[in-house]
Amino acid sequence: MPVSISQYVLKVASRCDLACNHCYVYEHPDQSWRAKPKFITQSIARQAAKRISEHAEAHQLTTVHVVLHGGEPLLLRRDRLRGILNALRSSIDPVASLDLRIHTNGVLLDKGLCALFAEYDVQVGVSLDGDRAANDLHRLFSDGRSSYPQVRQALSLLRRPEYRHLYAGILCTVDLRNDPIAVYEALRAEAPPRIDLLLPHATWALPPHRPPDTDTPYAAWLGRIHARWLADGRPLPIRFFDSLRGAWEGRPSGSEAAGLDPVDLLVIETDGTWEQADSLKTAFDGAPATGLDIFSHSVDEAAACPGVVSRQGGLAALCRTCRECPVVRACGGGLYAHRYSHENGFDNPSVYCNDLKKLIPLVIARGPTAAVVSEPRDDALDAGDRHALPDGGFELLASGPGDMVTTATLTESSWSITRALVAAVGSEANDGGDRELSQVAVAGWMLLAQLDEEHPDAVREVLTYPYVRAWAARCLDPPRGADTALDRAHLAGLAAATALRAGAGAELLLPVRDGHVHLPGVGALAVGPAAGRTSAVRISAAGLTPDDGLRDWQPVRRFTARNMSFTVDDIDPFRGGQGWIPTGRIPARDWQTWQQALTAASRQLAAELPAYARVIAAGLRSVVPIRPAAAGRSQSGTARHAFGAVALAFPGSPDMLGELLVHEMQSMKLTALCDLMDLFDPADSATYQVPWRPDPQPVQGVLNGTYAYLAVGDLWLVRAREGEDRQAHSQFLEFRSWVEHGIGILLNGTALTPAGLRFVRGMDSAVKAWVSDS
Ligand code: SF4
Ligand code: SF4
Repeated sequence: MPVSISQYVLKVASRCDLACNHCYVYEHPDQSWRAKPKFITQSIARQAAKRISEHAEAHQLTTVHVVLHGGEPLLLRRDRLRGILNALRSSIDPVASLDLRIHTNGVLLDKGLCALFAEYDVQVGVSLDGDRAANDLHRLFSDGRSSYPQVRQALSLLRRPEYRHLYAGILCTVDLRNDPIAVYEALRAEAPPRIDLLLPHATWALPPHRPPDTDTPYAAWLGRIHARWLADGRPLPIRFFDSLRGAWEGRPSGSEAAGLDPVDLLVIETDGTWEQADSLKTAFDGAPATGLDIFSHSVDEAAACPGVVSRQGGLAALCRTCRECPVVRACGGGLYAHRYSHENGFDNPSVYCNDLKKLIPLVIARGPTAAVVSEPRDDALDAGDRHALPDGGFELLASGPGDMVTTATLTESSWSITRALVAAVGSEANDGGDRELSQVAVAGWMLLAQLDEEHPDAVREVLTYPYVRAWAARCLDPPRGADTALDRAHLAGLAAATALRAGAGAELLLPVRDGHVHLPGVGALAVGPAAGRTSAVRISAAGLTPDDGLRDWQPVRRFTARNMSFTVDDIDPFRGGQGWIPTGRIPARDWQTWQQALTAASRQLAAELPAYARVIAAGLRSVVPIRPAAAGRSQSGTARHAFGAVALAFPGSPDMLGELLVHEMQSMKLTALCDLMDLFDPADSATYQVPWRPDPQPVQGVLNGTYAYLAVGDLWLVRAREGEDRQAHSQFLEFRSWVEHGIGILLNGTALTPAGLRFVRGMDSAVKAWVSDS
């Protein structure tokens, strides 16, 4: 059976009242508009409606989307538009729910037209490229006058209460000459329900404008808006970002420009011919044509034409480069038209490939180097649920320990982000700077890509090591004074560690840092004083050999007990964090003491808090020994991007060690959960006094501390009950009061999202259970 088509662009006018010089209809290679009738006739509109309706009925479609388009559709004026809208509604409404839209430049929009659109329930999208300067770069009348005042007038009309429900949003075409923040602010000022940012149509034959000496200027431009959007707390949806993230999370992208969903869209021209997507006009003259028309051919017949079928093939239909690309799930090879070259047709990556490779990891991840959710904040919990938290997993996490399945989900989520971040670093491997180190980075990246095909499990094992994501985040958002070339060259260390795990032979140069070459999760090798910035190693099934014999090999130590196993990493160069300092290599006798204390603590936890102990066993990959804090205070922490790792100063007693482990695992789980969904408004600037710290904390700190002390309270409740120990009981009461205090702050504040509220209420229920238990 042919594919069903649910989206249609109905071209009602082939002429326009503006003369935008970036217009793909008039200014790009396809010039078919010249031979088209200026306007659609009523009989063509009726036949189009009939074709769409009969197709919807035959395929039992529940919803059909039709966009009236041009040229400029408002040139038809009210009466003719009424006839078309009437034909569509009367023919399609009885069969399927009709989502009817119009896309206009806004110049002719008036109250009469708005009333007509209200009558026929037509959503109105308007093109605007930013502020006046941005608009006037392109969107001019043929006599050179600006269209800006008319467009703003149209938008103010759509903001009026009686028409507000018709306002679909603004489409903005990116132009690098505009300041991205000024564009973003100008668009936001029009209070649209949604913005879409469109890359200017371009192909390998007609590449986009790029300033000299820039490789990814569109990623930089969009990245600035993205960062600002984040900082503003994502006040409105931005479709391009939403689509990329949605596709990455396995949801429909809702856009031709992202993801691998089959494209189910056809265009009906003013003469009744079936065409493929309009953007193909940018490829070559005649590119969108099918040779079919609505009088002689059904939707099924149009949908069976090769150009449409070729876009139903998902991953398999992409070029080899895209098929092997780590971000293809989000990117989908970019917009089909943007892949065109004279040599290979559409069998290429997007002409924006480098930009997309750089932008996508930022959009699909979260936090300082990244972006957050695609949905409006109210929908955040749903987004997280869709991403894959198992049934009941959210509630189990909120109640304290979570479970192993939910922990595995958080691990998967972090793995997705890490993979994307590493790909982004790989795409920059050859970026200028130190030539020798760039070559090391490129060779490492190429070997890693090859190993990914041959030994994907080994690649996963190495890249999920906690400090790999921390390293990638640092490369993409380098701190002041970072040696970026040296950092990027760590790609070779990743490749070497992978080859070693896979038992694959390799010879490569590794970067030298502080007199060592590093294989993350495996160990470090001291190199001789004569070594420069790089040192050669050979990897074989037998292991690792430096170019001139083995010197001072320091393996990463592993702690293994009956119920858990993780590394105690005192050598990874990216194991640092905020507010604590890692120790150097622990002397052998101290390592014995660590092992004894960890053995005792893991046994104790298994007996006292088996649910937490199981989650630690499932999620903890590494402990970083850190320097102790001031005398008498324990010290511990987690790093934003090091999922699977906690940092601990040696606490002296197994009791305390167990408590610190439980405490920090809570932070780690909460950070990973926040990668999946918004629990609070990141723009909230209020701070609160909490009992466990001297300095006021932002909402994130309150949530983090409350959740951590919930677990610590669980631990001390058990200890108080077991020995009927009064000291333990008073300790428990103190932690309980802390958690109650934190919950009170959070529930009385305004920063929590609906998901955050649900999470804190889950903690509250756990505390109420304590009260009845104790
Ligand atoms: S308003 Fe749209 S259709 Fe008209 S010239 Fe500008 S870009 Fe082209
Ligand atoms: S980023 Fe480039 S290689 Fe990857 S899917 Fe997109 S176009 Fe293809």
